[in-house]
Amino acid sequence: MELHARHYLLVKPNGDIQAPPTPDAPRYATLRNMTEPSPSATGRRVVALAGGIGGARFLRGLRAALRADEPDATITVIGNTGDDITLFGLRVCPDLDTVMYTLGEGIDEQQGWGRAKESFAVKDELAAYDAQPQWFGLGDRDIATHILRTQWLAEGVPLSEVTARLCDRWRPGVRLIPMSDDSVETHVVIEDDGGRRLIHFQEWWVRLHAKTPAVEITAVGADTAAPAPGVVEAILDADVVLLPPSNPIVSIGTILAVPPIRAALQSTSAPVVGVSPIIGGAPVRGMADACLTVRGIETSAAAVGALYGPELIDGWLVDLVDSETAVPGVEVRSRPLLMTDIDATADIARAALALAAEVA
Ligand code: GDP
Ligand code: CA
Repeated sequence: MELHARHYLLVKPNGDIQAPPTPDAPRYATLRNMTEPSPSATGRRVVALAGGIGGARFLRGLRAALRADEPDATITVIGNTGDDITLFGLRVCPDLDTVMYTLGEGIDEQQGWGRAKESFAVKDELAAYDAQPQWFGLGDRDIATHILRTQWLAEGVPLSEVTARLCDRWRPGVRLIPMSDDSVETHVVIEDDGGRRLIHFQEWWVRLHAKTPAVEITAVGADTAAPAPGVVEAILDADVVLLPPSNPIVSIGTILAVPPIRAALQSTSAPVVGVSPIIGGAPVRGMADACLTVRGIETSAAAVGALYGPELIDGWLVDLVDSETAVPGVEVRSRPLLMTDIDATADIARAALALAAEVA
């Protein structure tokens, strides 16, 4: 499916044809989004890669810590788009939206994803038509986001600019950039009674709860995807780069599967520090262990630290229960890593920044 074709003709409700946007049309939204971290800001430039819930919660703590300690600092977030999926014709970007809603205070706190005070009338109506799939719960409020995103994409607006426009409403206090404007989708080769087949990551994760044995997880399109505008520049110009406790395979791993992004992380002069999503040999929530197992990687703070390794990270923050962790070539520190509330999470972010200062 061609997601970003730039030559759609738009027919307005009054029948007029609206010209397609020119490739060099002014990027108003991108500029507006920059006002969060102002281009003239003099403070430190902090860059973080992020998946969904783990990434978003960490970012909320990071933002709180910086607002209190370094109000001039700016945060640029490079979001995972590998979980993106088209459902009922709507382009859904679960991780970008989780970050946007969490930082914009529109998230369902209990669930960690989706909108607060959500209703599901559309989902129920679709089910009444027996429309498939029914395993992905799109809420009514959330659907408004997907409708707008899909409309703008069809007009030829790149995903990075679409995201900036959506953030105009949510004011996340960070510059949120998708890793790429090109379509990248994580797919999983599963093996069951029907033999081997390729399914979308969301189907494996949400419908099958990652229980069906998987043979391979691939970020389809990542190897040829171009980083979205600003991504590589942000990493190269950063004062600090953080890898939040996001899923190391399908969140951080997918972002790093875009070759120029991995290369930027390897060559940036900024210290790079990761925070472990694995505590005491298990993910804090979710099924990251299933993803690690597919790749033959042990579910431990040490193994994930080694997966990133000294080529990518300078420092690795692990929980106190993992204080014995050693990663050759990487400075490891331990402290409590449960993001129980914003204050506790802000302290985790402070510890990551302190480790970055140490290894710089
Ligand atoms: P997803 O896209 O919604 O799956 O979210 P992410 O990829 O951003 O983050 C998922 C990871 O967050 C999981 O592997 C969890 O182990 C991790 N995580 C969730 N809560 C916590 C926490 O309180 N502390 C730490 N260290 N990791 C957490
Ligand atoms: Ca995700």
